[in-house]
Amino acid sequence: MNPSAKKLVYHFSEGDKDQKDLLGGKGANLAEMTRLGLPVPPGFTITTEACRHYLEQGREPDQLRVQVTMALRRLEDEVGRRLGDSTDPLLVSVRSGARYSMPGMMETVLNVGLNDRSVLGLVKASGDERFAWDSYRRLIQMFGKTVLGVDGEAFASALDAAKARKGVETDVELEATDLQALVEEFKQIIVSHTGEEFPQEPRRQLDLATRSVFDSWNTDRARLYRRRERIPHDLGTAVNVCTMVFGNLGATSGTGVCFTRDPATGKPGVYGDYLANAQGEDVVSGIRNTLSLDDFAELDPDSYKQLTSIMRRLETHYRDLCDIEFTVERGKLWMLQTRVGKRTAAAAFRIATQLVDEHLITLDEALERVTGAQLAQLMFPQFDADAERTLLTKGMAASPGAAVGRVVFDSATAVKWQARGERVLLVRKETNPEDLEGMIAATGILTSRGGKTSHAAVVARGMGKTAVCGAESLEVDAAGLVATAGGVTVKEGDVLSIDGSTGEVFVGELAVVPSPVVLYLEEGLDVALAKVDEGTADVVRAVDRLLTHADGVRRLRVRANADTGADADRARRMGAEGIGLCRTEHMFLGERRPLIERVVLADTAEEREAALAELVTPQTEDFVELLTAMDGLPTTIRLLDPPLHEFLPDRAELMVKVAVAKERGEENADDERLLAAVERLHESNPMLGLRGVRLGLTVPGLFALQVRAVAQAAARRVKAGGDPRPEIMVPLVGSVMELHLIRDEADAILAEVRESEGVDLHIPIGTMVELPRAALTAYRVAEAADFFSFGTNDLTQTTWGFSRDDVEAAFFAAYLDKGVFTVSPFESLDVDGVGRLVDIATREGRATRPGLKVGICGEHGGDPESIHFFHRTDVDYVSCSPFRVPVARLEAGRAVLGQPEAHASDDDEIEKG
Ligand code: PEP
Ligand code: MG
Repeated sequence: MNPSAKKLVYHFSEGDKDQKDLLGGKGANLAEMTRLGLPVPPGFTITTEACRHYLEQGREPDQLRVQVTMALRRLEDEVGRRLGDSTDPLLVSVRSGARYSMPGMMETVLNVGLNDRSVLGLVKASGDERFAWDSYRRLIQMFGKTVLGVDGEAFASALDAAKARKGVETDVELEATDLQALVEEFKQIIVSHTGEEFPQEPRRQLDLATRSVFDSWNTDRARLYRRRERIPHDLGTAVNVCTMVFGNLGATSGTGVCFTRDPATGKPGVYGDYLANAQGEDVVSGIRNTLSLDDFAELDPDSYKQLTSIMRRLETHYRDLCDIEFTVERGKLWMLQTRVGKRTAAAAFRIATQLVDEHLITLDEALERVTGAQLAQLMFPQFDADAERTLLTKGMAASPGAAVGRVVFDSATAVKWQARGERVLLVRKETNPEDLEGMIAATGILTSRGGKTSHAAVVARGMGKTAVCGAESLEVDAAGLVATAGGVTVKEGDVLSIDGSTGEVFVGELAVVPSPVVLYLEEGLDVALAKVDEGTADVVRAVDRLLTHADGVRRLRVRANADTGADADRARRMGAEGIGLCRTEHMFLGERRPLIERVVLADTAEEREAALAELVTPQTEDFVELLTAMDGLPTTIRLLDPPLHEFLPDRAELMVKVAVAKERGEENADDERLLAAVERLHESNPMLGLRGVRLGLTVPGLFALQVRAVAQAAARRVKAGGDPRPEIMVPLVGSVMELHLIRDEADAILAEVRESEGVDLHIPIGTMVELPRAALTAYRVAEAADFFSFGTNDLTQTTWGFSRDDVEAAFFAAYLDKGVFTVSPFESLDVDGVGRLVDIATREGRATRPGLKVGICGEHGGDPESIHFFHRTDVDYVSCSPFRVPVARLEAGRAVLGQPEAHASDDDEIEKG
């Protein structure tokens, strides 16, 4: 070969498992098995690079033709047969295989090399006329459809007609002569649809099939799939050309799928299905009942023995659960595929720790093999595994959890039924913003269209509501108030159970049990172990081990966002190391709202101060409760953030009330003053208006009250022998001057309380960074801040100019579909934009104030991908809702091991396709 030419074709013996970028997942693993000396049918892989060249230039690289010839001749020599030869022909499969598996998205052509002459050779070589003609008919059908673009229906109906003519039900009942006739018919279909003959020349078949695999990278469905799974569009696919082996050559042949451990439960021991006298598709499609591996052992002890020894070999080699496809051709075992197998969340934890105990991997590696998303899944309530169940249909696992409810088909009914105390499931073809109220009312959402980024899925996840989306076999007739799937009719009011972690939909009510992992987190390992069966106990023990290990290695501290003593207690049980954000606004609602109204309405300073003074005591009690629950741990208390009008009555209602009173001559001066105040405070964009520090600077005494309450609460705790560690946080600062002003006032109050209570108090005062200006002037802001805490919710809102309360439901589904972003920036940090601000502010803040403590308190603090970024950016802690704390602990540990962010498609790479 010309030394300057790029190598575009690799014989299976030339690659290895680490070459997935070049050879695709399937190709790399086939090469690895070949290198291990396992019985892989010989073949070669055309690289993703060749594909990329083809897609960019619109033609194959010049060298490709030559290199394919070399590889093909080597293959022919190796097996001692020629492609499409008229006696004993070599036949090959041509399969796609990208870096990340895209199940069913791209093309495959089998039996390439068959033509009018070689089919006769196959008749002779196989001694099975029916088999040979059936293989040829399958080639023409697949080739016609995928390579020549003939509508697959044309072949399917011809096949049906042949069966009808013969009066039989299944393909298997067609005889050689029927199939031979069908071959002629199929060839005619091709001529009439394309104006051209089915290509008889084997090499031309191979080249065209290869090209159609390249082309299939860019079909609409493949592009859509990649957008959804966040797989880059410029990777291209490899093409695997592999000697055909046949599992449908009679009783001593067959095909199967197996796993080196149970991928559903993680139970040790092999697991798999086998189907005699069948081809690969037959196993997956579940048409016929498969045999267990034990049955296979009886049927074909030699192949079984060889298979189990290969399984052990592969597992030792990959040091992980492997998933394997194999075929037995007349008693000879062939390995067709392997990969590190996809598994459920429970199995992931269990298998990881099993492998540690078997001394195959280290504890660090075990931690790398589980994800925060998997842990989160284990924390949702689940359907009782022992409950009897009838599956209705299956869709995408769009938003985890287990939900049971009565079916309704429209939003209004959902709201109505929920109001009368029913649990409802909103069932729709797809949802749109008009369904929002119904989605809020429902316990779960089921749609027949759309995937993981459909409106229903996005909104449901945002609400933390269970959803199954895109259950395609479900026909939803909203007008007729029925839905059907597989012949079962579901009427309005019928009960269904949906599992948002698996996508399964069950008829009737399935019992829901609390998550054993939450039981463990809440009540400790011993309590949990005493209450669960052995398999579950194994999962719980595995979670405990890996979480403990993560705690041991992580650098990031994990705090919780908690507002009350009860939340704080729960957060501590979940392993929180402090409170990163106590939002104080709820403390001004309920009974205390009239007091705030009086602050706002006060005509004189005295009136205002009197109202504020009344708030000091209850506010102090709040903080005592919180500091008691968090004794010994840092507790960040944020001064009041939302716009004041949120504490006043609704403007429209009040207007009506005043107008009606006037009409009746029953004017009420208080209501009128209140309305005037509401009008005065009304803002078009309250989130960008008088809120946060701006409020503190314009409503005299408001922040002072809160600072005093914090100081007094701390003093009380110290006197009671406690160890309170409050930190005061000022929201929405954009300029250092704002912070200086608040600080001066606060410092004076702290000094005063220290003096009057005779207690030594050290209460740091810091700021939230929620505005781009604060981030960009962090070097100044740090002059007045003892710490920074990024409010990444607001920082995302203000960086993008997105109204966080509106945009997700309004147009995020469209943005996700169009690929503007692959995940909502409110869910996972926009590293390029918002992340850059975090990085700048952290570095420049610390340049001014070395050792400045930096935290994260937006929702991103509990998001796995974002946590890896925060680790790299050197922030000190993340803070998230109590329920996310264990997830953050685990991911913070994984971040240290340099595990790349959990990437949807990386996960998919280990999915069975
Ligand atoms: C934030 O903006 O990220 C934040 C934590 O504050 P809130 O969500 O209360 O505005
Ligand atoms: Mg905020």
